[in-house]
Amino acid sequence: MKKFQLVTLPGDGIGTEVVEGALKVLKDACSRYDIKLEVQEFPFGGRSFDQHGTPATDDTIEACKASDAVLLGAVGGEKWDHLTGADRPESGLLRLRSELGVFANFRPVRVYPELAHASTLKPEVISGVDILIVRELTGGIYFGKPRETNRSVPDPYSFDTMRYHKSEIVRVAEKAFEAAIRRDGRVCSVDKANVLESSRFWRDTVVEFAGSYSGVELQHMLVDNCAMQLIRHPKQFDVILTSNLFGDILSDEAAMLTGSIGMLPSASIGNGPGVYEPVHGSAPDIAGQDKANPLATIASTALLCRYSLNLEQVARDIEQAIEGTLAAGYRTGDIYTGDDKETLTGTMEMCDRVLDALENVEKPETA
Ligand code: NAD
Repeated sequence: MKKFQLVTLPGDGIGTEVVEGALKVLKDACSRYDIKLEVQEFPFGGRSFDQHGTPATDDTIEACKASDAVLLGAVGGEKWDHLTGADRPESGLLRLRSELGVFANFRPVRVYPELAHASTLKPEVISGVDILIVRELTGGIYFGKPRETNRSVPDPYSFDTMRYHKSEIVRVAEKAFEAAIRRDGRVCSVDKANVLESSRFWRDTVVEFAGSYSGVELQHMLVDNCAMQLIRHPKQFDVILTSNLFGDILSDEAAMLTGSIGMLPSASIGNGPGVYEPVHGSAPDIAGQDKANPLATIASTALLCRYSLNLEQVARDIEQAIEGTLAAGYRTGDIYTGDDKETLTGTMEMCDRVLDALENVEKPETA
């Protein structure tokens, strides 16, 4: 029997609800292949601040480092909005990402046929979209030094620094190429090489790296064109590889193709345990009401299986169960349109319906 160690950090608000439900699905999906998960849960974010005076204790961080993967809900809420600096719930997130050295952020954007109507774009443009955005997460202009604002000169100025070392580009490119191999085998590297020195270096480095890699088709696109193409013809993309700043903007743009924040999973990956979490926040407006859509977190557990546990078949089963649940018409409030073929469900019932759908997913004979 294979065994893995997981840490769950449900966090605040709907984080606790969606992680509880998603964990049930993940455990069930693993048990079909005799895989056991040993799970340790820790308070995180606001809840950790209330109990321990910090959003992430050293014990929590150490347990995450010692685990195979971390499943996170969401942090924050009005109760902690008055906190500043390292006490703020999101500081716990930043610390976790930095201590685990997760330098690549994966944001899959997948439009399920049943939800194509939820997008502001035409169904024929977005139906079948399946993009993976791989964003560099720990370098570039968000962290580059020097950065300065000088207001004490006659014409005040301010600047940031977009700096990338070759090693930083190579390691994230490697993650994108590895992911592309498991998908359609195409990487589109996005930069601003017509204007920025750091983008020309990014492009040269990706080209050199690609030379050592076979089986992946590499294309380059300028970020302004990519922003347009995501709206005009999003189906052309497989994996998009890009820097921290461009990825931040493009991943939010691409996310809106799906129409609902409750459907978007994410993974932050380095060379140790990865962090898997829904893209949405703690949604205080619906917390504790059994209204949250758990599918983003359930889809995050599929990514956890694929990228941290190397359990591709379990990942596919979970994704197929999500598809089956949507195809059967089950919807939480955020994706419910009132159509006769739809059944409105709460958070926990949605998880139970995914568990039912999982039973109907056939196991391959070779598994
Ligand atoms: P949010 O994502 O929590 O909510 C935005 C809107 O989307 C709300 O109307 C909410 O009800 C809805 N929504 C979000 N997730 C949903 C789901 N799974 N199902 C159904 N509806 C869903 O963003 P916000 O309101 O800007 O932030 C609320 C709190 O969350 C803040 O404290 C913010 O700092 C925090 N936050 C945390 C993270 C994180 O932990 N990674 C990310 C974003 C925001």
